[in-house]
Amino acid sequence: MSERTFSIIKPDAVERNLQGAIIKMIQDSGLKIVGMKMIHMSRKQAEGFYAVHKERPFFGSLCDYMCSGPVVVSVLEGENAISRYRTLMGATNPENADEGTIRKCFAVDIEKNSVHGSDAPETAAIEIPYFFSNLELVG
Ligand code: ADP
Ligand code: MG
Repeated sequence: MSERTFSIIKPDAVERNLQGAIIKMIQDSGLKIVGMKMIHMSRKQAEGFYAVHKERPFFGSLCDYMCSGPVVVSVLEGENAISRYRTLMGATNPENADEGTIRKCFAVDIEKNSVHGSDAPETAAIEIPYFFSNLELVG
């Protein structure tokens, strides 16, 4: 079944001009980009986006990092897009990420790990409208 997932190219990757390389990996995997824009999140937006992690010890640092510079948010579409993009991203900790994954190629550490991807249909259904209106999505 075709589905949509939400992606962020995080500040560490944008800062190193890796947007193009990461978008190429996404497109080469066969996922279709149906929405994309560059934004600079406010602290409040980052806190809201990562609200599920608010009790975790890394929450404050994560929110500081996510609003530290511009990011590229996008919506990707395809068969099993959610799990396919998670596989392409690789493990949260780049030390555990498989060869050829985005995080293995580019992540700095477990926090500055270059990309975000929704982890389930319920999450994608919240994350996509958090950053995109329907008018910004094609197809
Ligand atoms: P994922 O992004 O792989 O779904 P999580 O949802 O568990 O991972 O965590 C959200 C984000 O929080 C991670 O991508 C990473 O940027 C950061 N993070 C996760 N675990 C840690 C940690 N132990 N220390 C610092 N930052 C972390
Ligand atoms: Mg997650």
